[in-house]
Order: sequence, then structure tokens, then C-alpha cells
Amino acid sequence: MLNKNEIIQETIIDITNEGYGVLKHDGFPVFVPYTVINEKVEIKVIKVAKSYAVGRVERILKDVDTRIEPKCPVYKKCGGCSLQHMTYDEELNIKQNYALETLKRIGKVNLDGVEVREIAGSDKVYHYRNKAEYPIQKDEDGKCRIGFYKSKTHDVIDNDVCLLQPEIFSDVVSVVREFIDTTKCSIYDEESHKGLLRHLYIREASVTKAMMVCLVCNGSELPKSNVLVDMLTSKFPMIKSIVLNINTKKSNVILGDSIKVLYGSEIITDVLCGNTIEISPLSFYQVNHDQAERLYGIAKEFAGLTGEEVLVDLYCGAGTIGLSMADKIKKLYGVEIIEPAIINARKNAKLNGITNVNFEAGDASILAKKLAEQNVKPDVIVVDPPRKGISEDVIEACSTMNPKRIVYVSCNVATLARDIEIFERTTNYRISKVQMVDLFPRTNHVEAVACLSREEI
Ligand code: SAH
Repeated sequence: MLNKNEIIQETIIDITNEGYGVLKHDGFPVFVPYTVINEKVEIKVIKVAKSYAVGRVERILKDVDTRIEPKCPVYKKCGGCSLQHMTYDEELNIKQNYALETLKRIGKVNLDGVEVREIAGSDKVYHYRNKAEYPIQKDEDGKCRIGFYKSKTHDVIDNDVCLLQPEIFSDVVSVVREFIDTTKCSIYDEESHKGLLRHLYIREASVTKAMMVCLVCNGSELPKSNVLVDMLTSKFPMIKSIVLNINTKKSNVILGDSIKVLYGSEIITDVLCGNTIEISPLSFYQVNHDQAERLYGIAKEFAGLTGEEVLVDLYCGAGTIGLSMADKIKKLYGVEIIEPAIINARKNAKLNGITNVNFEAGDASILAKKLAEQNVKPDVIVVDPPRKGISEDVIEACSTMNPKRIVYVSCNVATLARDIEIFERTTNYRISKVQMVDLFPRTNHVEAVACLSREEI
């Protein structure tokens, strides 16, 4: 049995999906952040729970060449990244193994005979994100802090330099900070639910470089907003949209439902897979543009289209996946719960001369069933749900529509594994291909695309 503060020496044998190293001491697992596989370390035990302990590295006893110096000065404070201390090749190995192990462990997925491809790594390992959300807080002296939450807390670290984001974002943050400090703009306080400014949210269209700045407020008016607009637009001509998002809810959810335009347009425009794409502040848009194009390319290949197919795109956001396949299909149905995203999707189809589309706003579990009842007979269904995966109703509706293939794009391999297990147990769809895609280098997140093919009985 281990005790708190005990010093032990062991070798790291694995890395968890959260990026923690794992060692075993007399068979008892100990999680040690910021370590790499095969490294022998001396650690201090800092927490002992029933079935595991947590340790902190005191010394590295045996070096391995997969360890590198993290680039970010706040790497260990911020908690946004967890794999910066290892080479990118090692990160990709870990993600591939973790994803396959999860499919086998959680989904009991049998990968014999399945085409398992190598993970698609990213050319850009830093500065790949096109979106940032910065919490705003008041410090003890009443000055504003804009930055990131300290790992596992709600305390904001006043630091806007994030290596995953475009460098220009920190210049924008500086201007907003200057605005808040000089105008003494009111800042939101989580505990009392009083005060105005909650978050600053920035998006940059990767191809057009157009930027959107969104101020999330606990109220519908931002005093002296014209001053902010002047300060931002005089310095950054690429800002095409400045909006206020009203969020008066007492919750952790960053964005509220309504938007007020302070400057320019409510949308910015980007180009994705050759299509012009309009994005509104409330619509989901893939944060890593270049890897999103690869992801969609793999999904398109798995879809196996010839130009004759009817395609259903569930959880379609601004329509981007279905539209990227439009040159190879006859008819597209898209379903998405966020209404402004559906408005974007319809406009995006029009902008790119894509006709024969039908986008509808609503819950996928209701609308998938409705499509099935309307006798829509897709050849291929694409699903790209949020982290919680899809519900059994959606699985059932997909199988009722009887497509040849279901292409499942997932940002959470654990729910993908769970859902594949349900498909395989309750329907005649079986996983035939899978490929992981790294959309989030240096963090512990990984995306996966799985093809489920109909088994003829
Ligand atoms: N395919 C899109 C969006 C993927 S993100 C793209 O690649 O850009 C997942 C999307 O699912 C988000 O747009 C989210 O708003 C939507 N969503 C979440 N829950 C939903 C539900 N119950 N029904 C339909 N859409 C949902």
C-alpha cells in the first residue's frame, strides 16, 4: 500500500487519455502528469485513493528521446494542453493506441478484418486554432484579467499568449483589456452573478483572414461600445464583425442565445473544401481548418460516393460536411439543432450554387425519425455528433433508413466505441474502416472517422 508523500522509483508504462503517465507500484496504478512512456522516474505520492494514486515527478532517472521541452511558458498552469512535453510522433502513437484500445475496451469492438488506418497527423502543430474563448475576471485590485482558467479551477490566469492560436489574437486581447481598464467597464462576477463582461470570444477565418470579435455580456448593452469598435477596427482592418452575445444565465455555458451586432456583419466568411462558408457566432465551425479538410476528405472517401447518392448529414452545423460532398451526390438532407447554423447552411448551399438540399433545424433524435417516416432512403448517412455521441433513437432511425453505409465522425472515441457496440448489437451495421485524425495537436483530444457498412442478411 502506498502512503502520501512516499517517494518511489518506477518506469512509466502507459499514458491515459487525459495525458497522464501511468506506472504500477506493486501492481497499484499511479498517475503521474508530464511523463512519457519508458521513462524511469522518481516520484512523490501526492494523493492516494482507493484504486489509484497520483504522483509528482521529483527526478527523471532514465531519459528517453521522446521527451522534449514544452514550448509554452504556462504549459503546466493552464491545462489546455497535456502532451507538449513529448515529440509529436510520440503524441500520434499515443493517440492511435489510445483510440484503438478504447474501441476494444469500451465497445468490445472486434477489429479483426477492419481496415485500421494510420492516424492523420497535422502539419501545423502550433497556431492551428481559429477560435479562442477567454474568460474575463476582476483581480484583487479591480483590474481585469483576460486569459485562461488555471487547470481544474475557475481562476483566470492573465495570459493571452496561447501557442495553439493565431498570434494576432493576443493583440486583440490587449486592446480589449485596454478598453476595459480605461473605460472601467464592469466585469462579471460568477459568485454574485453581477457585473457585465463575461467572456471574449474571437474567430479568424483561416483562408480569408476575416475576424470576428464577440463580447459575451450579462446584459444587452455594452457602455461605450463605440469606443471599443473604434479601438479594434482602427488597429485590425481584418475585423469584419464585432458582436455582443447576451448571456444572463447563471451557468458555465459560455454563449447565450442572442446576438447584437456592434460593427460590420453578424457573420464572417471562410473557404472550406473549396466552398465559401458563412459562419455566425453561434454556429459550430471546426477549429482546425486544414485538418478539418482532411477529416472531411476521409469521411468522403469512406462514404464511397459516385454522384448518384442521397446523403443525410446529421449534426450538420453550418452544413460543411454535406456541402463538401455535394459534387458527388444527388440530394442532401442536413439536420442540426442550432437554428442560426441551419440558416448558415442554407445560405452556404446557395453561395456555392448547390441545389437539391434540405436543411432542417431540430433535434437529431426527432428529425432522423421523421426522415425515416417520410420514407427518405439515403444511400449514405454521415453523423458528426458532439462529445456525448448519439442516442439509441438516432441509431434506430439510421438503421430504419437502411443506407449502405453510415460514416461516423467522432470527437470522442469513448462514445464512438459505445455507439459502435450498440450498432453492432442491435442493427446489421458493422465497422469496416476506421481512421483517427489529429485535429488538436498538443492536447489530449483526437478525432476519429469510422465507416459502418450494412451487412446483408
Ligand atoms: N458537422 C459539423 C458540426 C459538428 S459539431 C461540422 O463539421 O462543422 C456537432 C454539431 O451537432 C453542432 O453543430 C451542434 O450544434 C449539433 N448538435 C448538438 N446536439 C444536437 C442534437 N441533439 N441534434 C442535432 N444537432 C445537434
